[in-house]
Amino acid sequence: MLEEYDHIVIGGGASGCVAAARLVTDGGRKVLLLEAGHSHHHPLLDMPPGIFKLINGSKYMTYHHTVPQDHLNGRVHDIPQGNVLGGGSSVNAQVYMRGRPSDYNEWDELLRGNNDGARWDWATVLDHFRGIEGNNRLANDLHGTDGPLLVSDPGHIDDVSRWFVQSVQQMGEPFTNDFNGPTQRGVGFYQFMNRRGKRSSSAYAYIEPLKADPRLTVKLRAAVRRINVENARAVGVTYRDASGVEQTAFASGDIIVSAGALVTPKLLMLSGIGPAAHLKSHGIGVIADLPGVGQNLIDHPEVPVISLANGPYGYYKQGVGWRMLKNGLNFKIFGNGPILSAGFEAGAFINPIDRGGVPSIQAFCVPIVYLDRDLLKVFDDGYGVTITTVLVKPKSRGSVELRSANPDDMPLVSPNLLKHPEDMKIMVEGQRFFREVLQSGPLGKRISKVIAPAGPDLSDAAMADHCRRFVKTNYHPASTARMGADGDSDAVLDARMRVRGIDNLRVSDMSAVPNINAGNTNAPAMMLGDRCADFVLGHG
Ligand SMILES: Cc1cc2nc3c(=O)[nH]c(=O)nc-3n(C[C@H](O)[C@H](O)[C@H](O)COP(=O)(O)OP(=O)(O)OC[C@H]3O[C@@H](n4cnc5c(N)ncnc54)[C@H](O)[C@@H]3O)c2cc1C
Repeated sequence: MLEEYDHIVIGGGASGCVAAARLVTDGGRKVLLLEAGHSHHHPLLDMPPGIFKLINGSKYMTYHHTVPQDHLNGRVHDIPQGNVLGGGSSVNAQVYMRGRPSDYNEWDELLRGNNDGARWDWATVLDHFRGIEGNNRLANDLHGTDGPLLVSDPGHIDDVSRWFVQSVQQMGEPFTNDFNGPTQRGVGFYQFMNRRGKRSSSAYAYIEPLKADPRLTVKLRAAVRRINVENARAVGVTYRDASGVEQTAFASGDIIVSAGALVTPKLLMLSGIGPAAHLKSHGIGVIADLPGVGQNLIDHPEVPVISLANGPYGYYKQGVGWRMLKNGLNFKIFGNGPILSAGFEAGAFINPIDRGGVPSIQAFCVPIVYLDRDLLKVFDDGYGVTITTVLVKPKSRGSVELRSANPDDMPLVSPNLLKHPEDMKIMVEGQRFFREVLQSGPLGKRISKVIAPAGPDLSDAAMADHCRRFVKTNYHPASTARMGADGDSDAVLDARMRVRGIDNLRVSDMSAVPNINAGNTNAPAMMLGDRCADFVLGHG
C-alpha cells in the first residue's frame, strides 16, 4: 500500500515531536513521524535519577564514539544520544535552560539581510519558549505557565547542594532564583522539566495528547535510511520498519529532518546532500554540494572537579540495597525523597577569569564521585562531591563525516572538545575556581580532599593535563547543518530552516543552530520545532 502524507518528520526527538504535533494540531496536516528508537514508556525514563543508569548502558541510548582525539592524547570518548520517542528529552537530566538573550540576538544578526522576514532575535524566540513552558512557580514576562512542557523546582534538595550554594556565595557570586531570569550569572537551584518526579519530555508533552488523532501516524523502531529527492525536490523517505523490512513513504509537502546533530548530517549526506568531494569518495551521487553539512560541530565540553567527603553525605549508594528500597517506598507512599532528584539540584553560572563578567562556565554540583562510563573505574568508590564544569560558549569546532555509504554504519564524529586554546584557558581557570569552592565555606568543612585535579601541582600545564584526561561531552552536539545567510559558504539552511537548493526539505533540531546557546539545549531544540512548524504553516 502506498504510504502518502502531507509531511514526514524524521526523528521523534526533542524538536521533531514538537514540529510533528504542531503540524497536526495547528495545521490539520496528515503527518508521519518516524522514530528509530523505542517507546518512551518505562519507569527508568520517567524517574529523574534514571539518567545515571541510562548513561551507563541502555537500549534507550545510542552511544556514538568519537574518533581518536589527537589533542587529547588519542583518547576516544562516548557521546550518548536518546534512542527513544522524545529523543534527548526522554533520557536527559531534565535541567530547564534556554541560554541568554544575546545567544539569539547573535543568530538574528548573522541572518540579518537574508532572512526572508524570519527573525531569530530574543523577543521572537521568547514567545516560543513561553508558549511551550508550563512553569509552576515563575509567572512573568520571561516565563509561561500554560504550555505543555512542565517545569518545576527540584522535588528534593540534598544538603550537599545547599552547602555548595552557600560556598559559592561566599566566593562572591550572587544567589539567583532563576537561571532563565534577567541575568544568568549566579548560584542557585536549577528548575527541571518534570512534575512531582515524572519527566516531561516532548513525547509526553506533544505526542501523548494526539494518541488517538488519526492525522498523526507514529512509527517506532523505524530508522530512516535516506531522503528521496527528485528534480531537486524531497518527495519521500526510505526507512527500515520495526520488522526489518525496507519501506518507502511519500510526502506532498515538506519533509523535516530532526534526527539530532549527529545523525541529521549523516542522513543528508547519504541522500546526496553535503560536501561533494566527501560524498564522491563514498560513491554517493551529489544532488546538492553543501560543504557545511557535518562541519562546525559544536558541543559543550565538561570537566569534573572531584572530591572525597569526610562523612556520609550526598547520594552515594542511595540507588542500591536497603537505601534503594527505602527511597522507593518514600517516593511511592509519601511522594518525596531522592527519587525526585536527577542526582543534582544546584548549579552556577560564573566567569572565572573576569569575575562578575558574562558567565563562561556553567557548573553542576553532583553529590557523588561522578564520572561517565568510559572513566568510571578511575577512582575508588566512596562518599564524595563532584562539580562538573561546562564551557558555555566554546570556540572549538569539530565534524561529523560518513564512515561509509552504508546507513547501518555510525558516522565518524570528531568533536575536538577543548582544542581551541581559549577554551582550554577558561576551563583551566574554572577548575581552579571550583577547587576553591570545594575547600571553602560549609562545603569545605565536609570535604576531606580534592582528588582531581589533585595538586600539589596546580600549574596551567597540570590543570590542562587534567582537562585533557577527563573532558567529555555535556551531551549537547549542535550546528552540523546550520542556518546561515546567503554567501555564507558553510550555511546548509536558510533562516526558515530550508535546505539550500532542495525544495520541500527542512532541518529542525540542534543541527540547525548558527551557534550553541549558553546552557543546556533541550528547551532550545523544542523551540526550534515550534518555529519550524510555524514556517511550514506560513505563520512565521
Ligand atoms: C544524557 C543526556 C543528558 C542531557 N541533559 C540535558 C539537560 O539536563 N537539559 C537540557 O536542556 N538538555 C539536556 N540534554 C540535551 C538535550 O536533550 C538535546 O540537546 C536535545 O534532545 C536535542 O534535541 P534534537 O531534537 O536536536 O535531537 P534528539 O532529541 O536527539 O532527537 C533525535 C531523534 O532522532 C531519532 N533518530 C536518529 N536517527 C534516526 C533515523 N535514522 N531515523 C529516525 N529517527 C532517528 C533519535 O532516536 C532521536 O529520538 C541531554 C542530552 C543527553 C543525551
